[in-house]
Amino acid sequence: MDQEIQKPVRVKKEKPQLRQSIYSLLPEEMQTWLKDNGEKPFRAGQIFDWLYIKRVTTFDEMSNLSKELRDKLAADFELSTLSTLIKQESKDGTIKFLFQLQDGYSIETVLMRHEYGNSVCVTTQVGCRIGCSFCASTLGGLKRHLLAGEIVEQVVNVQKALDEVGERVSHVVIMGIGEPFDNYDAMMSFLKVINHEKGLNIGARHITVSTSGIIPSIYKFADEQLQINFALSLHAPNQELRLRLMPIAKAYKLPDLIEAIRYYTEKTGRRVSFEYGLFGGVNDQVEHAEELAKLIKGIKCHVNLIPVNYVPERDYVRTPKNDIFSFEKTLKNNGINVTIRREHGSDIDAACGQLRAKERKQETTN
Ligand code: SAH
Repeated sequence: MDQEIQKPVRVKKEKPQLRQSIYSLLPEEMQTWLKDNGEKPFRAGQIFDWLYIKRVTTFDEMSNLSKELRDKLAADFELSTLSTLIKQESKDGTIKFLFQLQDGYSIETVLMRHEYGNSVCVTTQVGCRIGCSFCASTLGGLKRHLLAGEIVEQVVNVQKALDEVGERVSHVVIMGIGEPFDNYDAMMSFLKVINHEKGLNIGARHITVSTSGIIPSIYKFADEQLQINFALSLHAPNQELRLRLMPIAKAYKLPDLIEAIRYYTEKTGRRVSFEYGLFGGVNDQVEHAEELAKLIKGIKCHVNLIPVNYVPERDYVRTPKNDIFSFEKTLKNNGINVTIRREHGSDIDAACGQLRAKERKQETTN
């Protein structure tokens, strides 16, 4: 006898609607919104002053705008889409923020104190799908891209914290959780807003973006002709080793990647930074340094050596100090500019994805 099999009914979990952050807009976009809403475009200047100079926390504080306009703004935009879950300060002045997004996910932002200024490391995605074998950010995969306003708000919130001590965010690095070139359009809008004189007015040369090596986006970025600093997470001197560390090398092979980097340096006239994580016994020997020097010979560049940050789920070990210096010396002897990255906030899990990894299990949405 035929029996009809009933398929289980799948109840789809409603995704919360994300409200647009007002911080995603450029002044010209705000002008368009004002015109569309029957308001005078010059109000954009006033609104930007309230957002980026006076740094208000409510629309009602925008006292030179009519109540009607403030209500319209509040109806269309959110003034704050991030809430601070954790703020941890390290002995060296590094501050790590764990922010909660509208839909319950959490992201990390780090403020680093340098001699040359205050630098904020921003996150561009909830999680990451690149899958680097050493990185904590990729452990739970990618949940979603951040919206431009959510990236801008990270810097604004850190600036608000610095306002309490009368300091300014002078530098931004896009080196937090996520692959910025996998969320290209939001990253570009973010860059335009923080660089804009009416926005946070952070100079392009004070901003750095880092990618794991998505080749088509590298060409696109080169053609934008920006003065923004550009870093590539290289981590290996040959294709085979890079593939072991970074599965992205399967889709984007090292020789093609190097060609894209050459294109970038020639097109922009700017130098590139190569980030090279030293993973004990894997890529940290003098012969690797020799091979690396050959690979990047003739490219206008700088190499940043990063001693591995310990990640509990990953079993990479630190390179002994002497070997780090030998690696550095080998590059120097080959005429390569090189520095060893200083650690920030190691007492507060400041390495990418570490604080969030602790929180991930508590996230409300999957
Ligand atoms: N997805 C981008 C932005 C992240 S930047 C990129 O890959 O460039 C963060 C930098 O720290 C990258 O160079 C990344 O490869 C590196 N990194 C991640 N985990 C690390 C670890 N455990 N030890 C050392 N460096 C690490």
